Amino acid sequence: MSRFDWDEKRFERVLQLASAESQRFLSAIPERDVTHRASLEQLRERLGLELTEEGLDDEKVIRELIEGARDGLLGSVSPRFFGFVIGGSMPVALAADWLTSVWDQNAGLYAAAPAPSVCEEVAARWLLEVLRLPETSGVAFVTGGQMANTTCLAAARHRVLADAGWDVERDGLQGAPRVRVLVPDEAHATIFSALRLIGLGASPVRIATDFEGRMRPEALRNALREGEGPAIVCAQAGNVNTGSFDPLGEVIAIAHESDAWVHVDGAFGLWARVSPETSPLVEGVEEADSWATDAHKWLNVPYDCGIAIVKDRAAHLGATSVRADYLIQAGPDSDAPRDPLDWTPEFSRRGRGLPVYAALRWLGRSGLRELIERGCSAASRIASELRKVDGIRIVNEVVLNQVLVDFDVEDSKLHDGLVDRVVRRIQQDGRIWLSGSRWKGRAVIRVSVSNWATGQDEALVAAQAIADAWKSVSVE
Ligand SMILES: *Cc1c(COP(=O)(O)O)cnc(C)c1O
Repeated sequence: MSRFDWDEKRFERVLQLASAESQRFLSAIPERDVTHRASLEQLRERLGLELTEEGLDDEKVIRELIEGARDGLLGSVSPRFFGFVIGGSMPVALAADWLTSVWDQNAGLYAAAPAPSVCEEVAARWLLEVLRLPETSGVAFVTGGQMANTTCLAAARHRVLADAGWDVERDGLQGAPRVRVLVPDEAHATIFSALRLIGLGASPVRIATDFEGRMRPEALRNALREGEGPAIVCAQAGNVNTGSFDPLGEVIAIAHESDAWVHVDGAFGLWARVSPETSPLVEGVEEADSWATDAHKWLNVPYDCGIAIVKDRAAHLGATSVRADYLIQAGPDSDAPRDPLDWTPEFSRRGRGLPVYAALRWLGRSGLRELIERGCSAASRIASELRKVDGIRIVNEVVLNQVLVDFDVEDSKLHDGLVDRVVRRIQQDGRIWLSGSRWKGRAVIRVSVSNWATGQDEALVAAQAIADAWKSVSVE
């Protein structure tokens, strides 16, 4: 038998290996260190093998991959993982993602992926419902917040230039009216790279923010008055350090007075919308023109999945839809199911909306609310425990899932180095994983609660691990 003969036994053998390893990996999560133990040299030695002429037995490939990777994996699916803003994978979302790979449909087109296209259509409708955004908005399942911001800003670019009499998709930006872009000083890095990618340049006007990182509405008003012509304002729901929100209602009203398009980057913060406890933070967000969020963060689907939502369907389609003679396309506004490639910057793509479909169906409205609320209450608990520890300060107002921690260090020259040492000590300890950042010029520690399984117990472990590391470093 040739290796290219279809052999269901071959599938069975490698998938059984993968399944056994999946179960081993996941069942060890509650006990295991969340840090990785192999050094770069070790990983290169174990994985950096020479390509062979003849190839290898497939089971051997999978076995060796598992062996080689094992010590080089973070426990980022663990409820004790607090680094960056990284969600885990809820079982139902993982299973749906697994099937997405097995089915391997090209979810760019309905004709090539009938069921996944319909699932994405349904998941899009559910998302607009739970996030309480205009129900006729365009929705795209993209790779992450970066591409969600890019998609939304491309739609914004289409609209503001079309209104100025310019067809940017046909004629590009050379000779186009100048588009003013205004962003909060504390905008996420991906806003700048999205602007760079769509030719608007990575140096927008930066609007002053307050200590929590919230845009100052008066500063926005003044900046808008200083110029004229097409304008795009980016606002933020959930600062990656403090978790703070721009005063969205006010910001959107001011921007709309100047006919600016308002895009909201809500990679994790937009989910505040689903709970009455946190929805005041995003009051008025529905008045914006586009929204970016992530499913692979707080919704806890596996990587990768971001979501772009655009109120103006024509602007969305203007920026992203594609036609080709060899495709089977119904057209976005027919009654036929949507072709995802009309809405995303990708052409061929995996059905990454399927895990979102499964996750929302499993959670229901109240489960989704609880997911967000338990994350917020774990963050509050971490903050309240740490406030009891001598020498530890909480820097931010803990309004969502982010906690910024600082330490009282007498000699300010030693401060930043000491914070670094605390971070390294925590990572080596392995009970939890988190990392540092800088806030207002000072090194700090960031704690982000984004995992579906993080509860009060894990919050206590986190506070204890931080306090222990601080104590051991401060007496050195
Ligand atoms: C994480 C994040 C992004 C980028 O999202 P990716 O999914 O990593 O591409 C953008 N904005 C904010 C506020 C974020 O927290």
